[in-house]
Amino acid sequence: MHLSSQADTIYAIATPPGIGALAIIRLSGKDAFSITNQIFETKSGKCKDFENVKPYTIHFGNILLNGKTLDEVLISVFKGPNSFTGEDTIEISTHGSPYIQQELLKLLSNLGARSAEPGEFTLRAFLNGKLDLSQAEAVADLISSQHEVAHKTAINQLRGGYSSKMQQMRQQLIDFASLLELELDFAEEDVEFANRDQLTQLVNVLYHEVARLQSSFEVGNVMKQGIPIVIAGKPNTGKSTLLNTFLQDDKAIVSSIAGTTRDVVEDKMIINGYLYRFIDTAGLRKTDDEIEKIGVVKSYEQVDKASLVLYMIDPTQSDLSNTANEISDFLIKTQISKDHLFIVLNKSDLLSNDAIVAYQKQFENMICISAKQETNIDLLKAKIVDFTSTHFTNEDIIITNARHAEALSKAGIALDKLLSGLKQKHTSDLLAFELKQALHYIGEITGTIYTDDLLANIFSKFCIGK
Ligand code: GDP
Repeated sequence: MHLSSQADTIYAIATPPGIGALAIIRLSGKDAFSITNQIFETKSGKCKDFENVKPYTIHFGNILLNGKTLDEVLISVFKGPNSFTGEDTIEISTHGSPYIQQELLKLLSNLGARSAEPGEFTLRAFLNGKLDLSQAEAVADLISSQHEVAHKTAINQLRGGYSSKMQQMRQQLIDFASLLELELDFAEEDVEFANRDQLTQLVNVLYHEVARLQSSFEVGNVMKQGIPIVIAGKPNTGKSTLLNTFLQDDKAIVSSIAGTTRDVVEDKMIINGYLYRFIDTAGLRKTDDEIEKIGVVKSYEQVDKASLVLYMIDPTQSDLSNTANEISDFLIKTQISKDHLFIVLNKSDLLSNDAIVAYQKQFENMICISAKQETNIDLLKAKIVDFTSTHFTNEDIIITNARHAEALSKAGIALDKLLSGLKQKHTSDLLAFELKQALHYIGEITGTIYTDDLLANIFSKFCIGK
């Protein structure tokens, strides 16, 4: 890990590789300005002293390679500590030719800078106190966010999110910890500097906050990975056709021979800013075919894990009363609750209006579509979005990071122990120990407490140049 090499000046291309209109090369560290002085001249052929130019300005000129112009560039100047990394930083906007980029990197290397490792700019920002650890992780989440919910969570976290609140409460706990330590110095005199009622109150608030955040992880994680929606039903009801209509491509196999979708087919799709995983399953029916049997078992597993099930019924295959039995059978066999199930009547193009009305009377909240004719598909999507907004939190702060969830869980256990210690009127030394444990895990979230391995693990997942 590069923790020991903080003194180096580092560089990286911050834009995607390959040809582009422009490319940005970043240079950060104590020699960023002096290195740039050696490769840049203004249009009128003058040198610049970047150490003494006004920071947060942009300069137009040439990058020189062996005395000749390599490219016309713009140079942005950021002076530490008021820069992203907290160090002196230069950003060079060049034309996006891979040749120019490579030659410029060679120049920087020859002048003593070294190539940055993944996430090293953000690591420096963290080590220089510009961001806490959870904010640094939010930078990576923000870059990789592909839909509105992921973006919203990352941007909230980057702005401080829950970590600033945690930090505040941690500070209050530290104050109590020092009062408890003080009591140990006066052990003979039986004094209480730390007010037990106030401490209990604070720990209670913190405990509930931790529990709330922890429970948001389940939801947050599902939203980050994609809300799973299973399309279930008997073979040939039109499940694959619906998935294809949703996705507007031909990923699922469509055929009129029952049992062709033997395995699980899934794809991701964004509707109204929510990311969904649509899962098409093997048709649910009794079968002697060994491979199809496995498919049916897998379908039930998928159903049990789903947030929402679209149960497809086909009026051309069975009548109303059989369909009603089929659905109650399905509900018995699975763990899905009624309000997580949409009954979708497909092939409505083959039904008379009267027949549709009869189905609607039987099944409240049924959605009537034609997957093939693409009728009412927008209505189905709107119902899915409605379902999501009622069943998934709209809270701004949700946990999507597994590391935070684990630290929160440990913090929760430690706070719980501390609470019962307070209740049982534990001695100051025992309470001080329990309090330290809680402080440790809360500190892990914000990165007040970290190991080099943890940092290496987090930052190695970043892209180079960030
Ligand atoms: P799956 O086994 O449930 O995945 O069913 P498929 O999607 O393979 O569809 C079975 C058959 O029903 C195919 O021939 C489809 O073209 C047909 N089908 C699907 N949806 C509709 C629909 O809305 N109307 C009509 N008329 N036929 C449909």
